Amino acid sequence: MKRDYDNLARPEVRALTPYASARALADAAGILLNANENPFSFDDRHLNRYPDPQPADLRERLATLYGVRDEQLLITRGSDEGIDLLVRVFCAAGESVLVMPPCFGMYALSARVQGARVVEAPLVETRGGFEAPNDLAELAGACKLAFLCSPNNPTGSVLAADTVESVCAAMDGRGLVVVDEAYVEFQAAPSFTTRLDALPNLVVLRTLSKAHALAGCRLGTVIADPGVIALLRRIIAPYPLPTPTVEAALTALQPEALARQHEQLAVLAEQKARLVEALGTLDWVRDLWPGEANFVLVRVPDARRLLDDAAAAGIRLRNQSAQRGLEECVRITIGTPAETDALIDFLRRWRA
Ligand code: PMP
Repeated sequence: MKRDYDNLARPEVRALTPYASARALADAAGILLNANENPFSFDDRHLNRYPDPQPADLRERLATLYGVRDEQLLITRGSDEGIDLLVRVFCAAGESVLVMPPCFGMYALSARVQGARVVEAPLVETRGGFEAPNDLAELAGACKLAFLCSPNNPTGSVLAADTVESVCAAMDGRGLVVVDEAYVEFQAAPSFTTRLDALPNLVVLRTLSKAHALAGCRLGTVIADPGVIALLRRIIAPYPLPTPTVEAALTALQPEALARQHEQLAVLAEQKARLVEALGTLDWVRDLWPGEANFVLVRVPDARRLLDDAAAAGIRLRNQSAQRGLEECVRITIGTPAETDALIDFLRRWRA
């Protein structure tokens, strides 16, 4: 069914005349005297020129990679920018944004900057994992945006398809359900991009930062109904994608590079299995959540001391103790085989 997403957007965003950059108005052909650029380039990459705001070749590669149509995607400076654009387009001050703590902190931060209210639907700890609370759909029904993260950072937990469906149904016509799939390539189940046609108010966030090893590139993709994408395009910065970023992404998305990346995913899965096994033998590990991403979460007797001792051994871990329900919890990212050797060696010698 065709939905009117304009009605969901802030009136200010609907009313504004979007900025039209020189590169958006005319392609970069001929004598370019329309963008106040310097005609001299210091090398053959032509960084003197503003980049294409949404390069067609990269859009095509990403559409193929994610199995979606070109008009369903917007390329952004990492998922961080996608989160921020969604909040700025759809949430007026005082409107509500649902988050499911413990989760990635940028959802609530972007909402608070916008003056939106943050509604929490905390994950429920069950034996061996974390699940959505029973009142999730009910709470989401009163919100403009719901940020669901699957696999979730930092628990690694995955949301069931029927949970996402029920939130989409509760918010249909009133708000958007954003499933952040930053870590989806590490899980076995398919992406929610396969459900976009069935769930019209679903938005999926994907990124090249994790499984594609391009965190330094800053490249994310918002995937949604073309009506939602058109609204986000109204406020995105004129030239969000730096030329070197686009070039690096195009290289990384070539078939040979993708084949190498698949092999690396298998290596990471092996290292994760080694780490989980090693952690399972340590009597001071109080809880262990392997999850379905490129990290594990553990509860230890003293997270601060573990982090300090690890840092003294040259290993940086992330303390999650400040997150609700994650007291004395530490998130450990999966590294190379040599890094995993060093980590396991440190963990075996550490005395709680
Ligand atoms: N979402 C989640 C769940 C994350 O963990 C992160 C990064 N830690 C991001 C989004 C941001 O990703 P990006 O690098 O694409 O901005």
